[in-house]
Amino acid sequence: METLDFIREKFREYYLKNAIKINAPSSMEKREFGFVPFKKEKVMVRHRSFESLGQLVNFIKSFVPSDVYYSSAYYKNPGEEKMVSKEWLGADLVFDIDCDHIQTPCKKTHDTWICPNCGKTFVEKPTQCPTCHTEKFEEETWICEKCLDAAKNETLKLISILEEDFGISSKNINVVFSGHRGYHIHLEDETLRSFGVDERKEISDYITGLGLNIRTYQPKKRHKD
Ligand SMILES: [Zn+2]
Ligand SMILES: [Zn+2]
Repeated sequence: METLDFIREKFREYYLKNAIKINAPSSMEKREFGFVPFKKEKVMVRHRSFESLGQLVNFIKSFVPSDVYYSSAYYKNPGEEKMVSKEWLGADLVFDIDCDHIQTPCKKTHDTWICPNCGKTFVEKPTQCPTCHTEKFEEETWICEKCLDAAKNETLKLISILEEDFGISSKNINVVFSGHRGYHIHLEDETLRSFGVDERKEISDYITGLGLNIRTYQPKKRHKD
């Protein structure tokens, strides 16, 4: 038996035994699903839609995917292949918190950039090799517990902003491990679904403090006469 077939068989056993643990996302019938097969060419099977959790679970058991994806967008016809025929109805608000973007001090101990030309190594991503002036580098990066803790901390900060400043109920905040380097926060609140690009940008500007004039909040210095 080939390795790939063996792993697929193990996944099949797992799905058969644990199907009960599979949860459906809210309004599942309006979402597009995608499945990655256990094949050498990992081409995702897309544009699938399901009316019920039972249908989805049966499909997973027979298809035996290595990965399953669902759209954060809701469509009138999620099973259609062309985007225009799907008819967009709205989308969850999703935040992606990734350790790669957090400059933790431990990165210096576990990340290395190597010049493929002269073999010189760097602890921070260089723009050019000072020895041979190459601009392309081989990257060896890693994620440690401290990196993940930093991402967890940012996730908790974001949740408190969403709850306290935006009044979003904790039952509509769904946090998941992204599978590798961080966390996704999904807001499945129905009132947020219809938000367009502008409204989503306003929320992101508010959270990142874009356009905030910090001087407004600083105590004014008094001039001595
Ligand atoms: Zn070099
Ligand atoms: Zn680290």
